[in-house]
Amino acid sequence: MPVELLIAPPASGKTNHCIERIQALRRENAFAAVWVIVPDRMQAAAFRRRLAFAGGALNVQVGRFNDLFGRLLEQAGKNIPLASVPLVRRLIREVVDEAVAHEEITYLAALQPSPGFSLVLQEIFSELKQAFVSPAQFSEFTRTETPMQLDLARLFGGYQERLGGMGWADGDQVPLLAGSLLEHDPQAAAWIDLLVVDGFDSFNGSQGHLLKLLSGQAADLLITFPGSRKITRRAHQRFREGIDHLVNELQPQLVDMQEQPFLPPVVELIERHVFDETGPIEKQSVEKPILLEARSPAEEVRETLRWFKKLVVREQVDLAECAIFSPDPAVYHPLLREVAAEFGVPIHFSMDEPLEQSPAINALVNLLELPAINFRTRRLLNALRSPYFNLVPQDGTVDTLERISRVARIVEGMEQWEETWDRLERSSDLEKQDLDDERNAPSLPRGPQASPLRDLMDSIFKLLTPPDEELPQREWIGWLENLLEQVGFFDTIESERDHAAIEAFHEILGALLLSESVAGVHTMTYEQFFNSLQSMLNGAGYRESSRGYRRTLLVGRIQEARGLRFKAIALLGLSEGSFPVTERPDPFLDEELRAALGLETRLNRDQAGLFYQALTRTDEHLLITRPYLSDDGEDWEPSAFWKAVAGLFDDSALVRVNSDAARPLVDAASSQELLFSALHRKVLPKEFKFLEERWSHLQHARTILHARQDQQATGEFEGSLERASSGLLELYGGDVPWSASRLGNYAKCPFFFLVSSTLELEPIEPPELGMDARQVGSMLHSILERGYAEASDPADPGAVLESLHKAAQKEFSEAPRKYGFRPSALWEIEQDQILVNLEKTVELLTGDDGWNPVAFEARFGLEGTPALLIDIGGESIRLRGVIDRVDRNDEGQLRVIDYKTGGTYSKKDLEKGVLLQLPLYAMAARDVFKMGTPVSGFYWIINRGEAQLKLKEVSNRVSYGVEDAIELMRKNLAGSIRGIRSAQFPPTTPEGGCPFYCPASLWCWRYEGG
Ligand code: SF4
Repeated sequence: MPVELLIAPPASGKTNHCIERIQALRRENAFAAVWVIVPDRMQAAAFRRRLAFAGGALNVQVGRFNDLFGRLLEQAGKNIPLASVPLVRRLIREVVDEAVAHEEITYLAALQPSPGFSLVLQEIFSELKQAFVSPAQFSEFTRTETPMQLDLARLFGGYQERLGGMGWADGDQVPLLAGSLLEHDPQAAAWIDLLVVDGFDSFNGSQGHLLKLLSGQAADLLITFPGSRKITRRAHQRFREGIDHLVNELQPQLVDMQEQPFLPPVVELIERHVFDETGPIEKQSVEKPILLEARSPAEEVRETLRWFKKLVVREQVDLAECAIFSPDPAVYHPLLREVAAEFGVPIHFSMDEPLEQSPAINALVNLLELPAINFRTRRLLNALRSPYFNLVPQDGTVDTLERISRVARIVEGMEQWEETWDRLERSSDLEKQDLDDERNAPSLPRGPQASPLRDLMDSIFKLLTPPDEELPQREWIGWLENLLEQVGFFDTIESERDHAAIEAFHEILGALLLSESVAGVHTMTYEQFFNSLQSMLNGAGYRESSRGYRRTLLVGRIQEARGLRFKAIALLGLSEGSFPVTERPDPFLDEELRAALGLETRLNRDQAGLFYQALTRTDEHLLITRPYLSDDGEDWEPSAFWKAVAGLFDDSALVRVNSDAARPLVDAASSQELLFSALHRKVLPKEFKFLEERWSHLQHARTILHARQDQQATGEFEGSLERASSGLLELYGGDVPWSASRLGNYAKCPFFFLVSSTLELEPIEPPELGMDARQVGSMLHSILERGYAEASDPADPGAVLESLHKAAQKEFSEAPRKYGFRPSALWEIEQDQILVNLEKTVELLTGDDGWNPVAFEARFGLEGTPALLIDIGGESIRLRGVIDRVDRNDEGQLRVIDYKTGGTYSKKDLEKGVLLQLPLYAMAARDVFKMGTPVSGFYWIINRGEAQLKLKEVSNRVSYGVEDAIELMRKNLAGSIRGIRSAQFPPTTPEGGCPFYCPASLWCWRYEGG
């Protein structure tokens, strides 16, 4: 049978030659059977299109090798059922499970639980089969190899045995079956009059072997191959092995192309000289740049899509004849999707999108994983908030649940929620009072308010908890479908993208069902079922329904560029390490073994040939791009391929884009870009009047941004709420009672006061087991109060210690319920530590220098007690609070003590009005409780057993006297109240940084860590 081998450089008309051959044959014989084999479906579609444009030819089959093999087997009546990918994975999983259970594998046994392991094995087995390596041969090769390879051989053999035992085959076995058919039946492919093999630049083991068999049966075989008959250039090296193999195996007739390559001049120059070792050429000038550098892959993508849009709009290039090829889909595809949507450029990807990355499937996996991770709180709350499930009413219920989880330190598990409900249901409301920062805990639903939430959470746990038994896969799928119905998953699916993902998900479930009916019932636990489902999702893809009626831009990988022709192409990512890609050895099959088995090696692959192929795909326009800054802002070197092209041209070929610079409005590729550029110029031209509304929004946003970037926080965007002053007056006017902690917050940062007191926002802290600072603070205050109040003699340290121990035991036993937290494993130790610190306080503060305690937790302005009235100049305001403790000496003078757990309390803070409590409480002891004259006071730091900010009888440079401190406090109070009533709340970073308990600390633009 004659075999023709047509070798020619890219764009020399090889495919045209094939089409002419087909048409010539059809002219001779209208019924001639013609098959065209190309590498993939994309090329099959392109070949059919070109055939149609050339006048068409009926009854010409265009497909991949496997399409032809399937037809041959079908015609010979040798069809056997083909296992779908999910079935293959399921069989591989079973083989692994059994091998581990029977201790047949050792080295790879540790990978058994990993959902990705079956995908890795599937890829290895597939590659071996494509190279015609049978399990027996592989076993032979690995007999003396590493334990890992011995394990691989056992698993490969086990899988093949299992598949064969069912009378099924997988897709990679089709060439093997076709080979066997062709070997035993010399007429099997004799009906083919012309077999054309076009668009390949290499053949794997099975393809090479079958081509030889086909060449003995098809009447005519025409193979095209890129390169040249005499390979001397590095760019053509990649093709040498393939050509040598074809020449040796098929002894073809070599055909020369007469036509000159049809390439645009710039590309022709590159084609002729890139990687040419004959020496440098004189640098050429070009009309338009072909090399574009941008700061990052995101900007690179933006500039590339702008280039395409320009070609389509201004030069009427058909979008369907444009393509982008990138070396790293994980980096570039999401960026391309995002920017193409903004620019209104329809694109389609050669690859399916990973199913796991679909938002709907992601949410689903998160939901199904909850029982396996013991309902970890963060993940559970994510599921409750997910728009894909109707698990809780969308009325703030999740916020309440989240608050409870934070206060109660619920980290995971139903039990922790149960404990919390028990405590909350049995306790009454702990009213939130303005005591001080250490004691203001967020309020929680308690008593009967907690019960409906408990019922809701119980029903959610019941719904999401799978049966605790081993079930057949079919029953697990039924349970899953039922769960998804109940959480309303299918009702929430609206977008085309989600629909496509759900369709792919259903296919996987269907395949799992089929696999069970074929491979037999296999019972499993929920964990095993979830693992098996995850391994199916891992590696599965989906795509939105085809938009055939629209012209779209193709996005593919560099290695997919061969065999296709376009009017315009862009090659992305030509920076060091990106393309050529950094090669890594195969962790399972080392280079030596790969070479011995005839598999493609993983190191020293000829990426230059790939690049050469890719850049010669265009008939008109070419753009090569690269990012020039790495993630950490360092210079990113161009790759060797970039340098090879750049070396052929002068500066006219290169453009470096500065995205911060204003660009001409006509170059804007989206309305966003146009508005951005107009903002740079401070004017929106009349013809863009239709963008007026967005334009004014943007200007407004710019004004806000400028205000926020200003060093001085002033104006309406920086907390000056004059427009809301009448509402604020209602809140803070008249005889509204004030507290020292609130006013202290205003002095600390007025914006902090606004968000915490006026807007009543609360800080969000990640839940951790045990108590938080405010819970500890409340507990310490309570124990000290009881310890002193219930002592037989509060002036006797021994009596107070005895009473303190009793009070502590009572408080410790009530604390989890009272404050709503769940004790950690360290709770016992924490109690001991707390008691030690409290004992120290009693020892140091009882009877010292003649001071004896006379009042504890003295409330004023709260629960019907009289408030402290302070004259702030023309107005008397009411203040409320709780004095932790008042001591009296033998002379009847007073000392005021305010307990603190930790922290530092400085004179500076007193002067600024941040610390108001001490002078305020001294004044209340004198004026409200009429206890006497306060002459001393301090903050007592319980955990350190030390006094801070001591107010003395006589003021000096080191400390304030009580009267001076009261006067200072009065002035500061007046200033703060004036600021609040005039609606001035500028964010002002406190000296020493923002407090962790400021609710704005996560989003405030003036935040500075302490
Ligand atoms: S984060 Fe800092 S600057 Fe912002 S409101 Fe809070 S305390 Fe003020």
